[in-house]
Amino acid sequence: MNKLFSSSLWKAAFVAVAASLLYLILLEPFSLLEIPKLKTQDLFFRARYVLAPSHPIWNQFFLIIIDDESIKRVHERWPFQRRTYAQLLEKITASNPRLVGFDFIFSGKGEPADDFLLAQALERSGKTVLASVIDTEGNHIRPLSEFAVAAQSFGVVNKLLDRDLYVRRASLIYRDEQGNRISWPWEVEMAISLLGLERAEYQITPSGIQFEAGRFSIPFYNSKREWQKINYRLNLKDIDHTPLWQALESKDLGSQLEGKIVLIGTTSRILHDDYHTPLGLMPGVIVNLNWLENLLARDFLKRIPTVFNILFVFLFVAFAAYLSLRENVLRGFVILVLITAGFLGGFFILFWKNYVGDYLTPFLGGWAFFTGITFYRYFHTFLENIQLKGKVITDPLTGLYNRRFLESQIDTELQKIADIKGLRRTDALHELSILMIDIDDFKKINDIYGHQFGDDVLKNISFSIKESTRKDDFVSRFGGEEFCVVLPHTSKEEAKQIAEKVRSNIQAKKFNYVNKITSFTVSIGLASAKADHLLASRSLIRSADEALYKAKKTGKNKVSLYQRESI
Ligand code: GH3
Ligand code: MG
Ligand code: MG
Repeated sequence: MNKLFSSSLWKAAFVAVAASLLYLILLEPFSLLEIPKLKTQDLFFRARYVLAPSHPIWNQFFLIIIDDESIKRVHERWPFQRRTYAQLLEKITASNPRLVGFDFIFSGKGEPADDFLLAQALERSGKTVLASVIDTEGNHIRPLSEFAVAAQSFGVVNKLLDRDLYVRRASLIYRDEQGNRISWPWEVEMAISLLGLERAEYQITPSGIQFEAGRFSIPFYNSKREWQKINYRLNLKDIDHTPLWQALESKDLGSQLEGKIVLIGTTSRILHDDYHTPLGLMPGVIVNLNWLENLLARDFLKRIPTVFNILFVFLFVAFAAYLSLRENVLRGFVILVLITAGFLGGFFILFWKNYVGDYLTPFLGGWAFFTGITFYRYFHTFLENIQLKGKVITDPLTGLYNRRFLESQIDTELQKIADIKGLRRTDALHELSILMIDIDDFKKINDIYGHQFGDDVLKNISFSIKESTRKDDFVSRFGGEEFCVVLPHTSKEEAKQIAEKVRSNIQAKKFNYVNKITSFTVSIGLASAKADHLLASRSLIRSADEALYKAKKTGKNKVSLYQRESI
């Protein structure tokens, strides 16, 4: 392929390598984009929630919820008396569920009669799992021992909080200060019962927990870190549920609960058991339900290895950089939008297959480089254009404007005067004068002193003309040793004074040639245009040329004015 192709390709590859290194040594080790990355994953959770069909396992769940209505309808102050729960549990037991999970702890002693009733109900149920929590000091708060004995088991309902206070992870093992396991999650306790596993037959390896030599295993998300991400798939509305007050009032829950996994928890906002999750604000019991569903369906999220995350950053940044170097902005933008969509689609498929990775940095990096390089390119071209424009309008030897630009400048100035209306047209301000300057006997200068010296004289005289005129006057090199000065807003009389000044300043200038001091003279022709009598730029130049010719003929080293009458 051609050279340009390969050079852009190399540059893009270089940029992509730089981006990947930045990612590897800065972004990843310091978790700089951790929260934005998690938020991006949250969007994937939401999208999947909308698109994914329900799982048959969802039908096995049934929820009894303490909602706002229940708090109003049950004629008790919160927390409800234990006899109410005892009554509820008896009802549930009567309808023969598969397992019952209470998202309540029942720690501490209550009303003795009530405690007795609840312990009895737990005993009769024989398949109820109670909750426990680890408090802020690290104490394991368990159910009251009577309940703990009567229940099938109990487990911890705590969840891990991310830095943005979202619940996305669950610890799998809780240890005491000596590092011994004191408990594991409530959901794991329930899964053990439901899958008929031997509670004591487990092994903790660096990659997860194995029950019965691998018959059931729960992987850690990150090896050696004893937690797993919750694979959110459900909300309350996706599961059969009934409010507590209705469950208590109905005579028979029978057919609804038979063979079901029944969870009991609070959903009322008043009870402050809501958590921020990828699927929105969610009651604690629904968070638990999601986690339990993951365990039962062996539906665990897997981490994409860092190598692949870096590879994605590399690929996307390489595409983006290449487009910004090779394509015009619009084409590059459209193609990059398409590639972004492609990558997003690919990432979503990976997520659908339970692979979680960095779905943000490739886009962030790629688009940043794309905009950066594009801006740089345009800024560069912009500067080049300015430089090029300067080259087109200036004369390389003297740095003055060239003849082409002079003519367009005279036209511009004449147009300004032509646009003046009414009485103001006679105003002296609306006059334009030009001077045509020619060095006297320049051929001789070249002949005597040589061409190089002639060039130096030209440069010096240019400088002198610039010095003798005003800032807004427009000095150009008209040809070999001829100069033209445009004097805007200048009457013939004012122009004559300026011309005299130019002439005498040049005459006064001393040049040193091999220890010999010389000086030079110029002849100047002057022509003016008034608002009430305008000429085209070419005729104005011709008039000034004629006046110059007159000055040359009548002895040189003088200023001569163009007289309209004289032609
Ligand atoms: P006059 O007083 O009538 O103007 O006499 P002159 O010798 O200046 O006559 P003319 O204008 O015909 O000569 C112009 C000379 O200027 C011709 C050429 O040798 C010289 N010249 C033109 N351009 C350059 C230049 O860029 N560098 C140098 N060194 N000489 C130049
Ligand atoms: Mg000449
Ligand atoms: Mg000359």
